Amino acid sequence: MSDGCILVKNRVKGKHLRALVKPPQLCYGCRPFFQVAFLTKIIVMTDADYMRLALELAKQAQAAGEVPVGAVVVKDGEIIGRGYNAPISRNDPSAHAEMLALRDAAQQTGNYRLTGCELFVTLEPCLMCAGAVMHARVARLVYGASDPKTGACGSVLDVFAGTRLNHHAEVVAGVLGGECGAMLSNFFALRRLQQQKQS
Ligand SMILES: [Zn+2]
Repeated sequence: MSDGCILVKNRVKGKHLRALVKPPQLCYGCRPFFQVAFLTKIIVMTDADYMRLALELAKQAQAAGEVPVGAVVVKDGEIIGRGYNAPISRNDPSAHAEMLALRDAAQQTGNYRLTGCELFVTLEPCLMCAGAVMHARVARLVYGASDPKTGACGSVLDVFAGTRLNHHAEVVAGVLGGECGAMLSNFFALRRLQQQKQS
C-alpha cells in the first residue's frame, strides 16, 4: 500500500460519502506486520466537508477585494484543483473561481478532460462556468448558494437539464447554502455601506 489514501465511495441514506482510509503511521519495518490490524483509520468526507474547503478559498477572494466565491476540484476523494474569484486582480473576466479550479486541476493531472472529477463551488455557476464544466467532462457539480441573477444551473437557466447538450453532470444544489449565501450578502452589504460613506 502507498502512503496515499484509498477511496471507498459509498452512498449512505442518500448522502454522498467518501471514506479515506489512511495507512498506518509505522516505520517500514513494522508496517508489513501491523498494516492490516491498523487499517481502520477512516475519515469520512461528505459534500459539506469539501464545501467548507471551498468556503476557505472564498475568504481569500474576499480578502483580495473580490466577490467571495471559492471552488475545489476533487478526484477520488483528493483535492486536485483550487480556485477563488479573481477577475479584478487578474484583469480577466473569465477568472471565476470555477474556471481557476478547473485550470488548476487540468494542470495537475496533465489532462484537459476531468473525467470522474467533482467540482465544489460556493455559488451557483454562471453560463461560462457551466459550459466549462461540460467541456471538462466533470462528473458531478455541487454548489452552495443559488444565484438568481446569473445562475445557469437552475436559477436563471438550467443548462444541465437540457437534453440537446451532449454532457450532463450530476448537479447537487444547496450544500452549506446558508453559509455560502451569508458570506456573499455580508460582502455586498459591507460594500454598499462603504460606497454610501464615500458619496
Ligand atoms: Zn462563472
